[in-house]
Amino acid sequence: MTRTETGSCFCGSITAELHGDPFWICSDHDDDCRKAIGSPLTVWVGYRPAQFRLLTGTPKTFSRTRGVLRTFCADCGTSIAYLDQGLPEELY
Ligand SMILES: [Zn+2]
Repeated sequence: MTRTETGSCFCGSITAELHGDPFWICSDHDDDCRKAIGSPLTVWVGYRPAQFRLLTGTPKTFSRTRGVLRTFCADCGTSIAYLDQGLPEELY
């Protein structure tokens, strides 16, 4: 049986499913992530893009670092994902 995780942003506009096990989990406290997330510590969970399915909503994107996209809910501000164009088979 395939593991399925479901989640949403704070307001519920954006919902998504992740299928299968993540390939990587880590905690991160660098300056960029602390400011982007608004927390002293972030836990990143890595999946392959094919494991991710957006169910509702359209995340807004923001990039401060060339090649890095951070997505978030435009209504409530919840961080959704981190994408690095240099790592096309990774989604956090
Ligand atoms: Zn939201």
